[in-house]
Amino acid sequence: SGSGLIVSFGEMLIDFVPTVSGVSLAEAPGFLKAPGGAPANVAIAVSRLGGRAAFVGKLGDDEFGRMLEGIVKENGVDASGIRFDQGARTALAFVTLRADGEREFMFYRNPSADMLLKPEELDLDLIRSAKIFHYGSISLIVEPCRSAHIKAMDEAKKAGVLLSYDPNLRLPLWPSANEAREQIKSIWNKADIIKVSDEELKFLTQKDKVDDENAMSLWHDGLKLLLVTLGEQGCRYYTKNFRGCVDPFKVKAVDTTGAGDSFVGALLSKIVDDQSVLQDEKKLRDILRFANACGAITTTKKGAIPALPTEADVAALIKA
Ligand code: ADP
Repeated sequence: SGSGLIVSFGEMLIDFVPTVSGVSLAEAPGFLKAPGGAPANVAIAVSRLGGRAAFVGKLGDDEFGRMLEGIVKENGVDASGIRFDQGARTALAFVTLRADGEREFMFYRNPSADMLLKPEELDLDLIRSAKIFHYGSISLIVEPCRSAHIKAMDEAKKAGVLLSYDPNLRLPLWPSANEAREQIKSIWNKADIIKVSDEELKFLTQKDKVDDENAMSLWHDGLKLLLVTLGEQGCRYYTKNFRGCVDPFKVKAVDTTGAGDSFVGALLSKIVDDQSVLQDEKKLRDILRFANACGAITTTKKGAIPALPTEADVAALIKA
């Protein structure tokens, strides 16, 4: 199609998910392989909706890495910016939603290939050719990939590419909460569009509730759009000139993995060809309704990538 390119940058990995739900990792009788990694999910979300996306990141030169590259390609996402590390293995995550509602994570990253992406391995032409550059890595402080991430963002910004950011906070991966806050804010201040969950907003502001004052305390001059996702309560949006909430769709959720990524992919796929929505509240609300629908649909099936919707799936939910 004639739409602008969205480059999504960060890690792609394999989630090992227990074959039965509601158990801790230690209790799991076995695991299913689910491709994931928030930035990869976003790229595939865009493509499934008919948009043009590229995924940029590094994988291990192993069976998991080849499997993930295959999934990127099968889904119509440009894989030319993917690099393969000859030494390190593809990142793996063991993830479960326990019966007490807490998510438990364990990562294989010592180090995994994604952490070893070097600045000189970036395809800068690809990055500069994007309309939107989306950044969502969980490895913000790990070298050498940190330098590659900063370089990619700075080059994109210099080329006039719109910068989108999702912090994807995984607190156990950070040495301390303060370090996480500081580092996330350093990227925050470069971004044009930011999406956070209500939990991340609370963490960043160190306040217990999500309200306009809290959200706006994180505003910065260059920011064009701040979104706070609220799970089954929909989302809030903030721009310089207007703010509000958009109601969710009622669905029967079975697995919320990837809902936020689906939301982001949907949003970016609509903004990429019409940035005027950032100044037009009515248009923006329509897009956020669409993004809420995408998030909702993603919760109705197990896994992230298999649950990402097409335009037809969204149309069916909106009409229902
Ligand atoms: P994140 O992964 O960022 O925490 P959320 O879980 O808030 O993302 O989901 C993103 C969006 O998906 C929400 O803003 C909402 O529109 C939709 N969504 C998520 N969970 C549900 C649900 N249980 N029912 C309806 N919509 C949902």
